[in-house]
Amino acid sequence: MTAPAVPPISKGILKLARQIAPTAVPQYVAVEPAEDCLPERSFANVTAIVRRCGGAMSLGWRLREQPRAFVEGVFHSVWHRPEGGLIDVTPRADQQTRIVFLPDARIEWDGEPAEPRRLMLHEQPCYCGSGMPFNICHGLAEA
Ligand SMILES: [Zn+2]
Repeated sequence: MTAPAVPPISKGILKLARQIAPTAVPQYVAVEPAEDCLPERSFANVTAIVRRCGGAMSLGWRLREQPRAFVEGVFHSVWHRPEGGLIDVTPRADQQTRIVFLPDARIEWDGEPAEPRRLMLHEQPCYCGSGMPFNICHGLAEA
């Protein structure tokens, strides 16, 4: 059985990643919720699993793209396993099996959630010549 192809990380996400942490590289991280882990509580989840199983907390940003609208980075943490490799142990409501994660070694976490970072995507005029932005013209029909 071959794994499904992983799509390339989008230009918008790469652009936001460069703004947040110019030297870091965004990567896919598998979502494998661990026992007792709660949605939206990545810091508590990772702290608990590090205490139980070792490894370390990796701080950074979960990046996602709302196509034709914006890209967003949300402060997030994943588990750096003792044997190496990153795992997102926080369960997700949308059942996605991976996230795009940007490790950010410069973050000093004081226990407060950091503000999400957002970048609006450039609005393309619609190909039909209406003069409207694509996302509120034919983009709506194709979404
Ligand atoms: Zn149109």
